[in-house]
Amino acid sequence: MSISQAIETVEANYAHQPEFIQAVKEVAISIKPLYDAHPEYETLKVFERLVEPDRIFNFRVNWENDKGEVQVNRGWRVQFNNALGPYKGGLRFHPTVTESVLKFLGFEQIFKNALTGLPIGGGKGGSDFDPKGKSESEIRRFCYAFMRELHHYISKDMDVPAGDIGVGGREVSYMYAMYKNLTRESTGVITGKGVGFGGSLMRTEATGYGAVYFLENMLAAQDEDIKGKTVLVSGAGNVSLHAAEKCIALGAKVITVSDSRGTLHDTSGFTQEKIDWLKAQKAQNKPLVDYVDKFGGEWLDGKKPWQFKADIAIPSATQNEINEDEAKQLVNNGVKYVVEGANMPLTAEAIDHVREHRVHYAPGKAANAGGVAVSALEMSQNSVRQYNTFEQVDQQLKNIMKDIHDGAAGASEEYGQTDNGYIDYMAGANMVGFKRVADALLAYGILN
Ligand code: GLU
Repeated sequence: MSISQAIETVEANYAHQPEFIQAVKEVAISIKPLYDAHPEYETLKVFERLVEPDRIFNFRVNWENDKGEVQVNRGWRVQFNNALGPYKGGLRFHPTVTESVLKFLGFEQIFKNALTGLPIGGGKGGSDFDPKGKSESEIRRFCYAFMRELHHYISKDMDVPAGDIGVGGREVSYMYAMYKNLTRESTGVITGKGVGFGGSLMRTEATGYGAVYFLENMLAAQDEDIKGKTVLVSGAGNVSLHAAEKCIALGAKVITVSDSRGTLHDTSGFTQEKIDWLKAQKAQNKPLVDYVDKFGGEWLDGKKPWQFKADIAIPSATQNEINEDEAKQLVNNGVKYVVEGANMPLTAEAIDHVREHRVHYAPGKAANAGGVAVSALEMSQNSVRQYNTFEQVDQQLKNIMKDIHDGAAGASEEYGQTDNGYIDYMAGANMVGFKRVADALLAYGILN
């Protein structure tokens, strides 16, 4: 069966899972040159094997709200592939979570994790629970209830969750507490823990900082520098604010952040002081619009950040946040680099558009791999029961992001995808990630 037949099968079996199909197609298109060079992948049906998760657990989460009413949510853990190491990937709590979303995220995670060069497989999980508007004690009760179910399916050398949208340090701590309570084990079973009880320094900053380190490598490949560049960031969560913070520290001017309600635009650029204020505001669930009274700038209700002139865009909110029209806006506004801080923030049509216009494009599985990379470093620190310093982790992260960049750029060149200095990071990253997993599968025979 060829790759195109495999896609047809996925489309027929999972017509109701559009995000999953989108993620599968992106990889399928990209790996063609690699597949052509390695007929053994086709003979041993590597792609067909990789699009079917090892298993998916689906469970019910009962919990009580502050009024004492019983609430019922759905929970999942997708154990997608463990060829390279324990299943590894975050937990997302958001009302848009479905099996399709978690399968797309889990599928991406396989190759993202492979790209880090660390021994981690791919998984993802979460719930349709909506943290918005919930009290602190409701969040705590939900996290306890979620882990009461999830703990049956995970362990430190088998499946190691972490955070994602709606799950940060606070939620990870509650879930870890329940895991410890049930098992009496203190292990690296979940990453993103508080520093002081097993968490790694820099895990919070890692995804955003890592994306900017990746960007620095892209710029260097074009003999450019981040200093003085204007940057559009979307989102106002962990990835966005840390990406913005690192851009600012390196001398760029960040003029937007956003959330589901609209966009905050500050032509004078955010400063560290303003970013610190935004972090505190978001941590208390308060609206971004309050910024205007304090620092100036403008609030654009219901709008996204892509209408402004800039050199670089770092979409860091959520999947499919940039459609074809928005990609056209980016190109028309002079954006030359798009770096995905979120997972799959560009639709397939948007990706085509930016690539056709030779905008340098870094897919999320390469650009945002810094988060899971530092999670893997947290796992190894936990295994030897030691802590590394902030500087040590930061240096490791920089090295990993450079290796991912150079690996993807190298594969783009090797398989004839680089055109006049324009590097195809999407093809390169997908081929490097895919090859690492595929070669492990071949070595195992037909068991995985
Ligand atoms: N949720 C993050 C991601 O999309 C991090 C996963 C992890 O640290 O395991 O890669």
